[in-house]
This record gives sequence, structure tokens and C-alpha cells, in this order.
Amino acid sequence: MAASPPLRVIHTVCSHDCPDSCAVLVTVNEEGRAVKVEGDPSQPVTRGFLCGKVAKYLDRVYAPDRVLYPMRRKSGVAKAPLQRGHELEAFERVSWDEALDAIAARLQDTSDRYGPESILPYSYAGTIGVLGYGSMDRRFFHRLGGSQLDRTICSEAGGQAWNLVYGKKFGMPTEDFRLAKLILAWGANIHGNNIHLWPFVEEARRNGARLIVIDPYRTRTAAVADWHIAIRPGTDAALALGLMHVILNEGLEDRAYIAEMTHGFEQLAERAREYTPQRVAAWTGMTAGEIEQLAREYATTRPAALRLNYGVQRAENGGAAVRAIAMLPALTGAWKTRGGGGQLSTSGAFAWDKKALERPDLAQASPLGRLARLVNMSALGQALTELGQARDQGSGNSHPSEQRSFAGDPGREQKNGSEGATEQDDGPAVHALFVYNSNPGAVAPNHNAVRRGLERDDLFTVVHEQFFTDTTDYADFVLPATTFLEHTDVQGAYGHYFVQLSQQAIEPRGEARSNVWLFGQLAQRMGFSEACFRDTPEEMIRQALAIGADGHSTNAGMEHITVEELEREGHVPLAFHSNPDVRPFLPYTAGPLATPSGKIEFYSEALAAAGLDPLPGFVPPVESRWGEMAKQYPLELLARKSDNYMNSTFANLPGHRKMEARTSQRLEMHPEDAKARGVGEGDMVRVFNDRGAIELTAMLNAHLPAGVVAARLDWAKLNSGGVNVNALTSERLTDIGGGATFYSTLVEVRKAGNRD
Ligand code: SF4
Repeated sequence: MAASPPLRVIHTVCSHDCPDSCAVLVTVNEEGRAVKVEGDPSQPVTRGFLCGKVAKYLDRVYAPDRVLYPMRRKSGVAKAPLQRGHELEAFERVSWDEALDAIAARLQDTSDRYGPESILPYSYAGTIGVLGYGSMDRRFFHRLGGSQLDRTICSEAGGQAWNLVYGKKFGMPTEDFRLAKLILAWGANIHGNNIHLWPFVEEARRNGARLIVIDPYRTRTAAVADWHIAIRPGTDAALALGLMHVILNEGLEDRAYIAEMTHGFEQLAERAREYTPQRVAAWTGMTAGEIEQLAREYATTRPAALRLNYGVQRAENGGAAVRAIAMLPALTGAWKTRGGGGQLSTSGAFAWDKKALERPDLAQASPLGRLARLVNMSALGQALTELGQARDQGSGNSHPSEQRSFAGDPGREQKNGSEGATEQDDGPAVHALFVYNSNPGAVAPNHNAVRRGLERDDLFTVVHEQFFTDTTDYADFVLPATTFLEHTDVQGAYGHYFVQLSQQAIEPRGEARSNVWLFGQLAQRMGFSEACFRDTPEEMIRQALAIGADGHSTNAGMEHITVEELEREGHVPLAFHSNPDVRPFLPYTAGPLATPSGKIEFYSEALAAAGLDPLPGFVPPVESRWGEMAKQYPLELLARKSDNYMNSTFANLPGHRKMEARTSQRLEMHPEDAKARGVGEGDMVRVFNDRGAIELTAMLNAHLPAGVVAARLDWAKLNSGGVNVNALTSERLTDIGGGATFYSTLVEVRKAGNRD
């Protein structure tokens, strides 16, 4: 009898939207089936373990309800929420050929009738692999002339804010947190969604470090901190400026570092003088003494590490908040000491050759002959229900030679709380929506507006997905998508400094296909003859790395990397991080930086020239206890994320739902707020504002600041009533970057049955 081939172990990378980008080893048996996923112990940051979301990943890959074949909506079935488990009744299986032919024909017809910009791609970080996130898809839509999506929903406000201060998103290496003596986690639930930082935090604490957490919600991380400071939502900028006030008042700043590395110190100092501890206490809910204590502790402990995460910037003034917080380690010179400084993201260190991957030059060959307009994904409801409607009814199709934008104009920065709509001619209405790597039916703000848009009979919607979701319910075609075990990709990270290769471990299940395959095929059906649409993933990885004649990458920081080394090792550090104990990486300690002044910018001349506030300041959110709207809707809602889901990903899996059962369909309320409304533990309550309503079960939580309520994001179709917390959130945009403002939401609460 012939011997069975041995088990194979393949190096892959978790591509879910998480800073950790874990190295994952997949064991595959002789039948080609994955039988084990585990962390790669040789990866220096992710060190051989996986989070609870991915540890049982095979439950996801082999889930019985995976979408495995192309599906077409049955004739006559209206677009509306479908009962979970009954989706197949609305769709019929078709072949890939039928699906691709029909989709290509419909996109061509839409382009001819309304102009190519009437076609809108909608994707985000359902996969953060370099190819899967943005490569062949971008080529396809550039060549087509489809609208460009302004991908703002998650991190753009914070990212732009950080870059205004530092030029690029670098941060202290994750491994160096172990050397800190103070760790300030600001809006960072390390335990929940950055778990590979946690062992370094624990090591630091064993060596005497204190962990301070600033977060309105008592997260798992906050619960085990030495000090949890539950400030009111949206008051982070005020607190950061208050800390600066104390630091400067007491002479705790690092004058030598400031003189050498920063720009605009005098102006910042003048601004910070306004933020006395007493004023800041009134906004944040802290005492003046606590603000002074925090400032002294932060400024006098060496090394002091700041872990800032993106929750902070999902408020109307989130950009200003991130700018102000990011300035703290520059003021105290914390960057100078290994184990000190801060980290929002490390993504700025990965200099992928995006031009080669995305080919924006293909837009010249589109019917527009230019780059298409930008449409802001954080205002999808408006984009589907308001954008271009009047124009469509009036002048019909035209292709102006100028690029326009819909709520995606970078010039809007720092217009606090601007609504997405613009008065100018924004171009045609959206007539075709192509969704991949995302589930806007669950995650986009202002769910009811999004749903009205998705229900439009005249909107042609394609969704490339692994499961039937809140978005596929409205699709004309559902196309089966691969998981990271089923395709090849290359990946950086936003929580460490390693380039990693993710090799295909198993054959795709059913007829699932990758993004690269899908958009390459579709391009060929559309008659796009450019050779780049036939590139293989392996060729595209070489393009992303800009492999030169000698076989090495020519990207900055990757010059030592070859594809062969990646295949052999699985993960390779960026050059500056290749020998940290001999040559530690201390970001922002030598210039020039990638800012206009070449220095850390406390004061931004660029913002001043644009007529915007060049300094960080605190402007209370329109939707906060200080706004007019609070008279009618006095409670501040935290529409928070789950620890065990990735936004809406994983929420359909029974094991993950079980881990989140404690807060499932619950509204967490401070006991005083509950009492004032006659609400008790376990009562059904109606949470509402002008945008929508949701019924949840009250759960008292004295750790929340009074006046703040919290509820978790979930799939709408898995909630009783068929809506989720995004029925309450708005499409108002952040002050910088046009991001979503999930954490600036006002609501009122009544016991269910009591009408408002
Ligand atoms: S979700 Fe994050 S922590 Fe979990 S396996 Fe993926 S990269 Fe690692």
C-alpha cells in the first residue's frame, strides 16, 4: 500500500482588520483539508498564539452556511431584509460565466446611460492583505471610470491627524512596550483588539510599570488597569490640552527635544494656557486634581509609552483629539527613550508600490479620461439616496473634465461636524454598487438611510462575500469569496514592523474566488485589454515589493527583502527593525520628518493657510451633552465594537456569539439614568433619535459615566427588530479626514411600550 503523503504546514497571515497581523500556521492533511490553525511561534510579536476570534478559524472556513457558488436574485423577489437561514430562497445558483457576463453587461449599460461614475465600489478592510485590500479592484475601477471610494470609515481622521503632527505613521515598536514604566492606553482596548501587545504590557507591569486606561467604557483592558479614567465621550482633546497645561505650568516639558525636533511650541503653549484643570474637569467629568496627577505621572515617568487607538477619532472632533494626544510624547521628549513614545499605527513604514498595484494611470483610458470623483463611504446613505438625484432627472449623462467629490474633499478638514451633502454638482446618482471586503448593511452609519438606498429598485448591487450578510439581502448577485487560507497575499501590519507572506494553504471551497481573480476576470469581460488584468497574485506580490533586477525589493525599508526569503521565513522585519537590541528604532528622534517644516508640528502652517485652526482645540461635538440636540436626546451613545467580532465579521458564528452573549442586545445604562426613566435591570427599552430606534434590554452599569449609554454593534438581521445600533448613528463627518462619527450620537431611552 502506498504511504499517505505527510501533513503539510503552510505559513499564512491573518488578514482581518487588526493591528496584530498574526503569523498563522495552517496544517493541511492529505485530502487537502485544513485540520489545524495555530500561531507561528517564530514571529517575534505575535509569538505563537491567536486571539479568540481566529483560534477556531476552521469553524469559519468550513461553516456549513458559507456562500460557495455565484448566486443571482430570483426574478420578482423584492430587496428587503431576509430571515437568517432563508437567504437561499431569494437566490438561485448560476455559473461564474453567467454571473460575470451578466454583471459586465449591466455595468457597461450603466456606464453608457449614466456615465461610469454612476458605478460605486464599496470596500474596506474585510481583508488587509495588500492584494486583497486594494490592487486588481483598483485597476478595474480606474479603467472603468467608476467613482473612487473615499475610504474614511475607520481610521482616516486619526491617520490624517497623526500625519499632520509627524508626517508619517510610525510608532514605537510593539516589542518595546515591555521596557516602559508607564503605559497610557488612550481609547485602546489592548485586551480586546490588540491582544499581542498585552504580553509586553504584562512584562512591563511585572517590572513595575503602571497601566493607565482612558476610555469612557470599562473595557476588559480598563477593568485590569491600575487606573481607569472614564472620561465623557468626545472630550479627549480637552483632556490632552489640559495635560499640556499642567506639564507646561510645572516646567515638565523637555525643552531640548522641543527646540531640536518641533515647530510651533510657543503657539501651542499659548493655546494650552486656556485649558486649566478646572475647565477641563467640567468637560471630561474628572476632577482637577486627577488631571494634575495624570499630567505629572505621565511627564515624570521614564520611559512612558502611549498606546492610542482609533476609537478616539470616531467623534466629531476626533481629528483634533488625535492631534492633541499625539503631541504629548513630543512635549515631554518621551520618544528619546527606548520603551517610550507612542503608537497609533505602524502602517506608514510599509512603502508598498501602490502605483504599480493600483494603476491610477488606467483612469486616462476610461471614458472620463481622468480620475473619477470621490464618494465618501462614511456618507453611504446620502450617496445612495441624495447624490445626483436632481441631476439625473435633469441633464442626463455628461462627463465633465474636472474631478469632483462627494463629501470627500480634503479641503473640508476641520469644519467641525460638517454634514456630508454638498451643494455643487456632484455628478450622477449611483446606479450600480459593487461591495467587497465590507458589510455596509451592518457597519455603515445611519443604517436606515443606507437601507433605503439599498432597497432602490433601480440600484444594481453586487456583493462578493463569504456569508449571507445584512448587505447580501439587497444584492442582485452574490459572489463567493475566499478566506485567507484560500488565496495568496503579502501583508504588512499596523501593529508591528514585519513584512509577511500569506501562502495559499487550501483550494478554495466550492467556487469561492479571490478579489484578484474576480476583478481580473471582470476586466477581461469588459474588454479591457491591458496586460495588467492578467497578472497573477505572484506577479502582483513582486510588483508590490517593487522587486528589482537583483531580486531584492526596491521599496524604502524593504531593500533587503526577496520573495524567496519571504517564502522561506514567512516574515521578515523592515530594515530599521532588523536588529533592535543593537540598533533600536526610536522614531521622530532625527529629522527631517515628512511634514512641511521637517519637524514635529505643534502648529500647522498648512491648516492656517487653508483658513483652518492650525492648533488643536476642543470643540464640543454637536451631538454631545453640550449641543442643542441634547434637549431632546440627552444621552450620549457609545455604539461600541465587540471584543470577539471584527466589526460585523464573525458575528454569525455561534461560538463567537456565545462569547459576546453577556452584552448581546443590551443597552448598558448608568443606574441614575435608568432610575430617572423608571427603567430597571432587564427591562425592554426603546432607544431612539430622529434617525431611528432600536429595542434592547436594559443592563445597569455603574462604571459608565452618567449620561452615557452603550450598545454593541451586531448584524441587523440577527437582532430582534432587524436593526442594529447604526439605526441611531449619523453621517456627520469628523473634523479631519471626513471619517465616521459613531461615538458622537445622542439618543433618548424609554421603557418599551411608553411612547415618546
Ligand atoms: S484578529 Fe488579530 S489577533 Fe486575532 S488572529 Fe487575526 S491578527 Fe491575530
